[in-house]
Amino acid sequence: ADRAVVGAWSGPAATADGVPVKLLANVADGSSARDAAGAPVDGVGLFRTELCFLDRSEEPTVDEQAAVYAEVLNAFSGRGPVVVRTLDAGSDKPIAFATHEGEENPALGVRGLRLSFDNPGLLDRQVAAIAQAAEETGTETWIMAPMVATVAEAEDFAGRVRAHGLRAGIMIEIPSAALIADRMLEVVDFLSLGTNDLTQYTMAADRMATDLTHLTDAWQPAVLQLVSQTAAAGQAAGKPVGVCGESAADPMLACAMVGMGVTSLSMAGAAVRPVGVALGGVSLETCREAARAALDSRDPMAARTAVREVLDRGR
Ligand code: PEP
Ligand code: MG
Repeated sequence: ADRAVVGAWSGPAATADGVPVKLLANVADGSSARDAAGAPVDGVGLFRTELCFLDRSEEPTVDEQAAVYAEVLNAFSGRGPVVVRTLDAGSDKPIAFATHEGEENPALGVRGLRLSFDNPGLLDRQVAAIAQAAEETGTETWIMAPMVATVAEAEDFAGRVRAHGLRAGIMIEIPSAALIADRMLEVVDFLSLGTNDLTQYTMAADRMATDLTHLTDAWQPAVLQLVSQTAAAGQAAGKPVGVCGESAADPMLACAMVGMGVTSLSMAGAAVRPVGVALGGVSLETCREAARAALDSRDPMAARTAVREVLDRGR
């Protein structure tokens, strides 16, 4: 029966009592964006631009970049927003023209927005290219930065984006940023929780390490507490807070995070329907109860069990 329901659901997503939740797609380039446009999504929550340039040895020109970004924006014309993330080069995603060589600990090194500390031109040229593509395509475009740790970084980034008249946001994927989400929201327009890295850095466990998967689990109560605190800051400020890490694709966790106050969930196209169906089966109050149950749990297994019970009862 579940299969039939999953097949029939066609968006837009809302809880059983009609509270809308934006379901968005994670994309990597024009072709994946065209695929994702076939799913019942409200836009793109994460365009990982670094994945367009994995094979480039030199920085693409502004015009070359704009052409690549326009492909993604065109796939969602009239259907934005498309949230474009600036280069998250480094660590697990080395980019020849940007990544710093020879770092002993690249996950804690010069990656993401940090590349702009000694090379602000790289960021400015990318923002200009995104703005050019937004202008050409007419698609609503927001820009966000990865790996932001401080308010000063967020403020500097927002200034560079707003100079082009576009909305500026940051990823919340470092615990320091989650802990001061309220102050981050004073200088940016939206937040997006990257739970893959937020989990890695909260648990001090490499996200690629196959022998640490019990730690690299977004159901860890410490991670959920940071998610909850960030979502609450967004609610208080009246600004959007989304989730774009893998955890958004977990239907049970998606319900709990909506209960915490997140306003959008961004995931691979294939994950959208199960999440839409799960949300549509429960009220916002049930999602809130699921959130409390998860936050009160002592470990991931207990959190999953408690949330499953709340959601089953509420269906
Ligand atoms: C994240 O860290 O959760 C995220 C969405 O970014 P990426 O997986 O590209 O690091
Ligand atoms: Mg990340």
